[in-house]
Amino acid sequence: MKVCKNCHRIYESAGVCPQCPDGKNSDFSERFNSSALVLDPEKSQIAKKLGFKTAGMYAIKVR
Ligand SMILES: [Zn+2]
Repeated sequence: MKVCKNCHRIYESAGVCPQCPDGKNSDFSERFNSSALVLDPEKSQIAKKLGFKTAGMYAIKVR
């Protein structure tokens, strides 16, 4: 599991993060504390608070 340090999206494996604005972020971490599954970013409080824009697994804290 890898986490994009910029947007916190969790991937099985990744080279670059397709979700980040420029689609070029390759700064990933394998160390994160807790994760959240966002099904509907429009209705999810945690998605709004942390700025998650699409459905998926996200890390709450990336180290
Ligand atoms: Zn990202």
